[in-house]
Amino acid sequence: MFCNLLATKKMTKEEAVKYYNPVLRRKAQSVALDEESKKTIERMKKVLKEEDGVGLAAPQIGESKKIIVINAEDGMFALLNPEIKEKSKESFTTKEGCLSIPGIWLDIARSKKVRVRALNEEGREMEIEGEDIFAVVLQHEIDHLHGKLFIDRAGTLVKWRSLVKYYFKKYFGNKWESI
Ligand SMILES: [Zn+2]
Repeated sequence: MFCNLLATKKMTKEEAVKYYNPVLRRKAQSVALDEESKKTIERMKKVLKEEDGVGLAAPQIGESKKIIVINAEDGMFALLNPEIKEKSKESFTTKEGCLSIPGIWLDIARSKKVRVRALNEEGREMEIEGEDIFAVVLQHEIDHLHGKLFIDRAGTLVKWRSLVKYYFKKYFGNKWESI
């Protein structure tokens, strides 16, 4: 009985969709700012808060829509149909992780600066510029809308080694860590 209660409680927690769920590989659809999109944005903000992440893309809650939510210093905001319009040749490398592939952190090189065009939550077209970590978050989340994951940007060997590690952790827990 007690176990059942615990299991039910766990299932009601909103969390990000995990690898390998096929929705993570699908190309997301453009959206309009309607009631449905607003509901999606609310759910995304809830998940991002619960998971304590810096960014989330709609496919990560199982919805194949072009929406991302960023957790910035001054609060969360959503971008609809974000598109990278310009990116610098200069690159910036940092350790990246993803709520959909927990426990894996890899050095990934991306553009140091990006300019993104999107609709904001009021439905206004706007442009946003990001540099360093902020540019990385924008690129990481927009990649999700194209079915691309950060592990795809690592070398093939690093990618597959990471996935083996991920599946080991997922199915056997951390007891193999010391081997
Ligand atoms: Zn991610």
